Amino acid sequence: MSSEQIFIIHSDGTIADLLEHSILRPAGYDVTQIRDRKALDLLLQTNHPHLVILGDRIPEGSGLDLAVQLLESRPDTAIVLASDPFSDGLLLRAIHSGLSGYLYPPFETGEVLEVIQGVLERQRRLKQWSLRHKEDNTSALQQKVESMEALQRIGRKVTSILELDSVLTAVVDAAVELTGAEEGSLLLMDETTGELYMRAARNFREDFVRTFRVPIKDTLPGEVLRTGQPLLLNTATPKKIKTSYLVHTLMYVPIQVSDRVIGVLGVDNRRSGHPFSDYHLDVVYALADYAAIAVENARLFASSQVEREKLETLLTQVQDGVVVLDEDARIMLLNQSAQAAFGLEGRDLVGRQVQDVIQHPDLLEILNGQKDSTPYRGEITLADGRVLSAQVTPISGVGLAVIMQDITYLKELDRIKSDFVSTVSHDLRSPLTAILGYVELLGRVGELNSQQEGFIQRIQVSVENITSLINDLLDLGRIESGFDARKEIVPLAAIIRYTIESMRSQAEEKGQNLVLDIPEGLPHILGNPVRLRQMLENLVANAINYTPKDGEIRVTTRSESEQVIIAVSDTGPGIPHADQPYIFDKFYRASNIPPDTPGAGLGLAIVRSIVENHQGRIWVSSTPGQGSTFTIVLPTTDNFFSQTQVS
Ligand code: ADP
Repeated sequence: MSSEQIFIIHSDGTIADLLEHSILRPAGYDVTQIRDRKALDLLLQTNHPHLVILGDRIPEGSGLDLAVQLLESRPDTAIVLASDPFSDGLLLRAIHSGLSGYLYPPFETGEVLEVIQGVLERQRRLKQWSLRHKEDNTSALQQKVESMEALQRIGRKVTSILELDSVLTAVVDAAVELTGAEEGSLLLMDETTGELYMRAARNFREDFVRTFRVPIKDTLPGEVLRTGQPLLLNTATPKKIKTSYLVHTLMYVPIQVSDRVIGVLGVDNRRSGHPFSDYHLDVVYALADYAAIAVENARLFASSQVEREKLETLLTQVQDGVVVLDEDARIMLLNQSAQAAFGLEGRDLVGRQVQDVIQHPDLLEILNGQKDSTPYRGEITLADGRVLSAQVTPISGVGLAVIMQDITYLKELDRIKSDFVSTVSHDLRSPLTAILGYVELLGRVGELNSQQEGFIQRIQVSVENITSLINDLLDLGRIESGFDARKEIVPLAAIIRYTIESMRSQAEEKGQNLVLDIPEGLPHILGNPVRLRQMLENLVANAINYTPKDGEIRVTTRSESEQVIIAVSDTGPGIPHADQPYIFDKFYRASNIPPDTPGAGLGLAIVRSIVENHQGRIWVSSTPGQGSTFTIVLPTTDNFFSQTQVS
């Protein structure tokens, strides 16, 4: 107490001296007399006196005015007014201004000390009280920060971990720790039995947790589940409940997904009666929400997993080979049949680049052939002689799916059919030539009337049509079997020009505009000039044939990285999308042509065979109602050799 500091400022030095030397110092106080207001301000910057005694008059004027100013800036300062003489008015104003005490003559030692001690004692209590209050506030704040941190931790866990047990255990742990409870449990509803079971717990015996089950009816957690309302129990006398035997305090909060309650999160105190507050309720509610999200996430994940597994089993078991690649050509799925086809059984290839795993040139060529997002087909001949038809479907956002069907037996049938057709065609040629010969002779052996001449003409046209069909069939047979494999260096530009010019009159007859766009210096290619001409003739003849009067047919050519690209476009009726994959097949005719259109559906099959014989590729792009473009890519002489070596 003796070290308590007192400042005195008074214009009457006698009173100041009396207080300091005769009363306060002898009583052990540390007293400083201050001259004026300025000195006081200076000292107050570094000191915090326990008490300031102000005279009613101070060097600058009224002590009471200074007291009022001081209390405004430092409301915790204890100020005592020392007046001479005693004045009722001054005393009243001192009280109204919130001063702590009032001294007046004759400044009796006992009285002065009683006032000073009283003021200092109250000041001390005030300080202690505010200190306690501050500590309480700090610890409440600390508790809130810890709760926030714990909630944040659980939140991160919920979003990053799919393993439900560990999230729910973390939720119960946090509920126990943040509420200061002794036990915690998370009960979930078992849909099949209609009971609540303990999914996660803290401080319960393990066998109790395992066997714990309570009905929804007539139990506290069941009531929370049914009503969706929380339950807070703070009792002085312990209450018997099913989860614990006797509890003083307990809190159950519903775990809710949308508007469905799926379980209950609870904490309790068996030994201590430590009550749960509304703040605890808020925290446990927030944790229950996290538990709900975790349970829902796990449910959604499990159901998507089941669907995925079903789909995987389906794709794995199907007879067709299935390869699914992501957008970077990494394998996402390679089913058993595809693994067997490429000799990759039993290897885990998911995630690997397809070209590192499957080196089959046909498949790689098909995969490289992807031009845009339209599906396309190709054939793969396996080492054991089997032939697969591969349908490639680009899937936006996923990558590419390749479905491979074994068409070996169809190929064999096709071969047998071709052999048969070519034998029959061959055998038909001689009798047809004989028919034509004899028909011509008919006119020479006797006079024919006009009707007979008309019949003979019709016979001739029909026989010519049959002969042309047979020639096409024989051509196709020859090209397919590679009979005319002999190739020479061909000036492609000259062949194209010659072919187009020879067909110009045909186009003009239909009022069509036949345009040829051929750049200077188109490279030579290695090929069969007769077949190349036939290839172009067939495409241009189709364009003229299917394009209506006054349409336009355009043949453009260009060379690009050791390849020559020839495109034949027209402004004709186009080809329906459904027909496009098949128009290069023998005898296939699109569904949009009128039934009496002449033709047998062999022209494009011949074109494709010729293109393939020249190691080239052909495709069509067509928009029904607008026109078609047939594009052929042929290797130039440089590229041809490297391609023939590979295949
Ligand atoms: P053909 O012309 O004798 O019917 P092709 O094999 O040459 O046989 O053609 C197959 C089918 O493709 C045709 O029947 C026709 O439906 C379609 N087609 C070919 N070229 C064109 C074209 N330029 N415009 C529209 N359809 C065409």
